[in-house]
Amino acid sequence: MKKHYLLAPGPTPVPERALLAMAAPMIHHRTPQFSAIFKEAAQLLKYVFQTENDVLILASSGTGAMEGSIVNFFSPGDEVLAINGGKFGERWGQISEKYGLKVHWIKVEWGDAVSSAAVKEVLDANPAIKAVLCQASETSTTVQHPIEEIAALTKDRETLCIVDGITAVGVADMPIDKWGVDIMVSGSQKAFMLPPGLAFASISEKAWKFNESATCPRYYFDFAKERKNLGKDTSAYTPAASLIIGLREILLMIKEEGLENTFKRHDRLARAARAAMEALGMKLLAPKSPSFATTGVYVPEGVDGAKFVKYMRDTMGVTMAGGQDHLKGKIFRIAHLGFVDTFDMIIAISTIEMALTKFGAKIEMGKGVAAAQKILIEGFE
Ligand SMILES: *Cc1c(COP(=O)(O)O)cnc(C)c1O
Repeated sequence: MKKHYLLAPGPTPVPERALLAMAAPMIHHRTPQFSAIFKEAAQLLKYVFQTENDVLILASSGTGAMEGSIVNFFSPGDEVLAINGGKFGERWGQISEKYGLKVHWIKVEWGDAVSSAAVKEVLDANPAIKAVLCQASETSTTVQHPIEEIAALTKDRETLCIVDGITAVGVADMPIDKWGVDIMVSGSQKAFMLPPGLAFASISEKAWKFNESATCPRYYFDFAKERKNLGKDTSAYTPAASLIIGLREILLMIKEEGLENTFKRHDRLARAARAAMEALGMKLLAPKSPSFATTGVYVPEGVDGAKFVKYMRDTMGVTMAGGQDHLKGKIFRIAHLGFVDTFDMIIAISTIEMALTKFGAKIEMGKGVAAAQKILIEGFE
């Protein structure tokens, strides 16, 4: 027998409490019983998103909320600025182009964060730009972008700050109302510790103004319609009812831990992952502005990264993510978001050490674990 561990940056493990809640017999979604659950989840979502704005609950993966954040606020021909420093940044621009928007791109080296000075320069030169589209945590390159600084640039312009927070909300402190982030999207299968299938979007009043004149075609992802229904504790179409029942459980768990502590835990795990890899002499993909959700690490010279990740998964039972596009085979990613804690990191680091040894890399087993332990022990009184 082999025990399996899911330590990928989405989907992430689902806590037993949510699994049990979701296993309950189906109830009808147009009932006071379901509406009460929906209402509670919608309220708690505001707490986790750190916002007074409505947070829409959509039945889709995270990309659905990204697409909705374009089609509901812009018209063909509108100009937007996409920060392209990885797979997901690229996606913002691709969605916009599909709907006939004119996309200005800032290309960022994979592993680097965008500089807010570069964003300012493009905004100053192109006052017609209606939105900056960015990731808070670019999961593909394990980079954190400077959202507070970018939001400060859009705040006093007729420009929206639209952020993909799919591996950031519920991970790191992002006071979006205070910073002036207009739209923040997320999804269920990352820090929300649920199966895939729900997406969320928090929308500011400034953004709703844009919605009034936006002519991009849309039907299913009609945010104004969803907002109206949210006000009646329901959704426009059949909600993913079981997932929403699970969502309420998860949000209660986050509330019980306390958002502050949730952020501290993620920060501690991220620091432990980095310290462990550095202690082993491994090279980090994003040392300058690392993501709080996942840590990218180059495989040593002579090790085939794709085979390495496959070995950890199939032979050792530990699923981590490899690299995408040109980083395929060159990196692996340690995830530390969602339902993960101290000893999940020990498993991840120990697995890496043993697999590296199997692949002939000259590392000293235990060195990474020891470095991580020195940080992880902070989590105990
Ligand atoms: C996972 C992820 C997405 C994509 O979400 P899907 O749920 O696969 O549509 C988008 N952005 C980021 C930053 C992600 O990590």
